[in-house]
Amino acid sequence: MKRTMAQLAEMCGGTLTDVATYGDVGVEGVFTDSRKPVQGSLFIPLVGERFDGHEFVQTCVEKGAAGALWQKDHGVAPQGAVIIVEDTLVALQELASSYLRENKASVVGITGSNGKTTTKDIVDAILSTTFKVHKTQGNFNNHIGLPLTVLSMEPDTEIVILEMGMSGRGEIEELSLIAQPDVAIITNIGESHLLQLGSRLEIARAKVEIAAGMKPGGLLIYNGDEPLIEQVLAEPATKLPEGLQRYTFGLQTDNDDYPTGIMNVQSGVAFTTKQSGESALTLPLLGTHNVVNCLAALAVARHFGVAAEQIVAGLSRLKLTGMRIEIINGVSGLTMLNDAYNASPTSMKAAVDVLEGLKGYRIKVAVLGDMLELGPQEHELHRGIGEYITPDKMNMVLAYGPLSASIAEGARQNMPAEAVHTFESKEELTRYLLENLQSRDVVLFKASRGMKLEDVVEALKIAP
Ligand code: ATP
Ligand code: MG
Repeated sequence: MKRTMAQLAEMCGGTLTDVATYGDVGVEGVFTDSRKPVQGSLFIPLVGERFDGHEFVQTCVEKGAAGALWQKDHGVAPQGAVIIVEDTLVALQELASSYLRENKASVVGITGSNGKTTTKDIVDAILSTTFKVHKTQGNFNNHIGLPLTVLSMEPDTEIVILEMGMSGRGEIEELSLIAQPDVAIITNIGESHLLQLGSRLEIARAKVEIAAGMKPGGLLIYNGDEPLIEQVLAEPATKLPEGLQRYTFGLQTDNDDYPTGIMNVQSGVAFTTKQSGESALTLPLLGTHNVVNCLAALAVARHFGVAAEQIVAGLSRLKLTGMRIEIINGVSGLTMLNDAYNASPTSMKAAVDVLEGLKGYRIKVAVLGDMLELGPQEHELHRGIGEYITPDKMNMVLAYGPLSASIAEGARQNMPAEAVHTFESKEELTRYLLENLQSRDVVLFKASRGMKLEDVVEALKIAP
């Protein structure tokens, strides 16, 4: 971005202390991490639980920041190019929404329980063939990450893709009001954050909040296999923009788009859809759930008029953010599927389905670890995953962690006893895999982020 201190003060409704001296100072961006000051950028001191950015304003300015914000209730502001605001976090968000309004970029917002980052990466791969696109980096999807993403957008950006995450009611609405999406996606409704929200209906309400800030006439693309989304859209309390357009996707044939055929190919899937007709699309990712994510992305691509051959080209160039069913070569010819980024019951079942679809392996193994933050039903939900596993889907289940003992218990319903094992340490688990697996075996790894199951993947990886 290119703005002056005076312009930034106006954008966030703040007061620049010395306009005559600093009004024309140029600013090229913003930053909030005082450990990494950015030359020529505006430092925004956020007030956190453990740190208060205001303590570092002086240092950041000395290290080359163009200026800084300062929250009113923090006493006398230091000398220099300082903009006084009521609240630095709100100011950051206002800067982002003003910047978006001043630019012409269209906004695509993506929420849902699972598949946000994946869908964002697919949308980006396709749209980038035709437009100048800016997107959320990694998982920068909250009330701080989203405005920072917006403010790092180059002025000639045509489409910005924003992931919107949440852990409670009201958060997605806040993000949607900042971003004002032209197009919004709800990937699905799962059980992540059940602990905080209490029910799947409340989770659906939290996701549908993405419609609240959409532009009039905007397009909402949502998972039509999930009746709760329809239900919430029909509730009188749900805030929807004027003239909202709707488009559904999913596996069921009553959706606007659904797959008409899916086939596993070399490290990916080929599929046809109702909308794309006879010509098959190839997605270099495993899993039916990723085909569903792709349907949402295809709807966005069509909305912006991307040509069919560009869609094919975009998909072939797709690179995912790591640990989403990443295929990794392991020691002794083992194939590892690293899906250890995170887990919830919905995504765990999707991963089990991926194993089911794989052919040509000697033994198929799932290493499943604890799913955290599920609340009082946690044991039941873990047990349910175990019961979902049958001998036609895989040959062996290795459960890691205290909650996963319930996965093992459930799995013993359908699986032979010698095919289900529990582990309390990663060392023990790694040793078991090393001693029992060989070439032409495939192992899936999945657990909540907190379990750091990728440590086991690292231990079994072939040294580069
Ligand atoms: P987060 O809330 O952590 O940002 P996310 O919504 O961005 O997650 P991704 O990072 O795309 O989700 O995917 C995380 C995991 O969820 C994947 O590894 C995969 O196992 C699973 N997943 C992705 N898409 C779906 C889907 N449509 N349905 C079920 N599970 C999915
Ligand atoms: Mg994500």
